[in-house]
Amino acid sequence: MINDKKIIVAIDGFSSCGKSTMAKRLAAEKGYIYVDTGAMYRAVALFAMQNGWMNETEINTAELEKHIGTIKLYFRKNADGKAEIYLNDENVENKIRSLEVANGASRVSTLGFVRRELVRQQQVMGAEKGIVMDGRDITTVVFPNAELKIFVTASSQIRALRRTKELEEKGEKVSFREVLANIEERDYRDTHRSESPLVQVADAFVIDNSDLTPEEQQQKLNLLFESITKGL
Ligand code: C5P
Repeated sequence: MINDKKIIVAIDGFSSCGKSTMAKRLAAEKGYIYVDTGAMYRAVALFAMQNGWMNETEINTAELEKHIGTIKLYFRKNADGKAEIYLNDENVENKIRSLEVANGASRVSTLGFVRRELVRQQQVMGAEKGIVMDGRDITTVVFPNAELKIFVTASSQIRALRRTKELEEKGEKVSFREVLANIEERDYRDTHRSESPLVQVADAFVIDNSDLTPEEQQQKLNLLFESITKGL
């Protein structure tokens, strides 16, 4: 018998630990929607930068808060089937992937009014279930009742190595030390902020992928998915 009851898969974890790759693949295999919530925080940072409300040291929170309701975010698949993010109808998928925007995202994500707006939009996206969503507060705030919760982690050194390689392949000139510092700074901010810090909830399955290949990691996730959905 085919089991077509859809669930919510909520995935949290540290920066650059391969969450999105495995989340995306699971969603594609199961015909689920995939939502990269990090891209949404990155798009808000880009919005603030483009409007001159954020520089390296400060954020004009009054202006950003005034305009937060005007930010329209959605994902559309490109010709290769990859979901790309749109900010007020502009495809900003490439623009949001720089280290500068990553750092900006980590800063705007500490603001309560930004989180409330994005959480609201994310809950709407998952209202029908059949969704795989990854981020830092998905298991705790966005979908605390998700049927399957995953917490992904890996050592910061390994994550920095992987990320440096990825950025180099895209032609960005970065050093391993710079990437490691960026990752450790973001980890610290994510776990220490007062608004929805990154925490491992008791009922999340932990995947530490420091010593796993992407295929092994995928296998673990898929097995967990099967074990949850077969009982429905
Ligand atoms: O996952 P990614 O690195 O693209 O996320 C960018 C930043 O957005 C993270 O460093 C994190 O601070 C923030 N974020 C968040 N909550 C989420 C997703 C991302 O605070 N649900």
